[in-house]
Amino acid sequence: CFIYLFNSNLPLGKNGVPVAENFRLEQSTIADTVQAGQVRVKTLYLSVDPYMRCRMNEDTGSDYLRPWQLSEVADGGGIGVVEESKHDNLAKGDFVTSFTWPWQTAAILDGDLLQKLAPQLVDGRLSYFLGAAGITGLTALLGIREKGHVAAGANQTMVVSGAAGACGSLAGQIGRLEGCSRVVGIAGTDEKCSILVQEMGFDAAINYKKGDVAKQLRDLCPGGVDVYFDNVGGDISDTVISQMNQNSHIILCGQISQYNKDVPYPPPLPPDIEKIQKERNITRERFLVLNYMDKQEASVLQLCQWIQEGKLKVRETVVEGLANIGAAFQSMMNGGNIGKQIVSVSK
Ligand code: NAP
Repeated sequence: CFIYLFNSNLPLGKNGVPVAENFRLEQSTIADTVQAGQVRVKTLYLSVDPYMRCRMNEDTGSDYLRPWQLSEVADGGGIGVVEESKHDNLAKGDFVTSFTWPWQTAAILDGDLLQKLAPQLVDGRLSYFLGAAGITGLTALLGIREKGHVAAGANQTMVVSGAAGACGSLAGQIGRLEGCSRVVGIAGTDEKCSILVQEMGFDAAINYKKGDVAKQLRDLCPGGVDVYFDNVGGDISDTVISQMNQNSHIILCGQISQYNKDVPYPPPLPPDIEKIQKERNITRERFLVLNYMDKQEASVLQLCQWIQEGKLKVRETVVEGLANIGAAFQSMMNGGNIGKQIVSVSK
């Protein structure tokens, strides 16, 4: 099989920008025999995610994230099919997933660490379980429900940064489904902005690489901002927070603009923005989807129902082949994706 290793040859450093060359592909073999409790799987899809940047540092900055070890196989969210099983609850042909799937074309895994998937929930589009019907969808839905204080009929305006990405594109749509009356996205290209408005039902979208973001935001959110789904942090978030209303809420989902910098998480706000946050009583509590896994089952069913009903539009950017996963990670970190970045490893 082929394996994809975290590369020792190119030091990255805590402040470096990750590139495909931080990884390397090698050919290897897996054990001949499957032991009791194990399964042999073929990898179908792998996920690349912003949090992986933290796993490239010895100190990941989070208790729940293990660093990738140099010259060892990288891992993350993955989906595969069981080809041989010596586990009581898994059979040949079952589709399974894990958060710690090795970046290999095939592997022998402990069956207890795998979750069985129900392909009918996503009409056979299995990769959705890494995105809209998986951790990404859960992040958007539970972030809004746990930290957004969205109430139907309350005439709230939601702003989403990183809006055309995996979490952001779902967050805006879910904000609307949960009752926001106005949803405005912020994203990095005109193409992304037009998809948000024309396909995903956002009321408007701002290309943050063009023009005066503060002015556009003021024009597009005349009543101020009530809920801010923050994927990016940095200057964009400072601009949004400056226009938030009294007693409004930030969903602190992620801060991707800071991930290549050696700063604590969540990064503190600049003093003038922190003053606004305090004076206006704006909540900014840390949100981590993994803390709400007791709500996973019911929430995945809700997400799948919305997808099937056409209420939640899903976009993916798919790169083919394990050999291209490093490039896919680099591209996603630089905005090359629309919706969820997926790597298709085998058919
Ligand atoms: P994603 O949004 O699909 O991909 C990352 C996007 O970030 C890129 O497409 C790019 O889009 C944007 N970006 C990159 N650098 C930027 C910068 N300097 N300023 C502004 N935008 C930048 O990734 P995702 O998986 O959905 O993750 C989105 C956020 O959610 C991340 O911060 C991630 O850490 C967080 N997250 C949190 C949890 C949780 O439990 N709290 C769970 C999952 C994900 P543009 O073209 O718009 O720049």
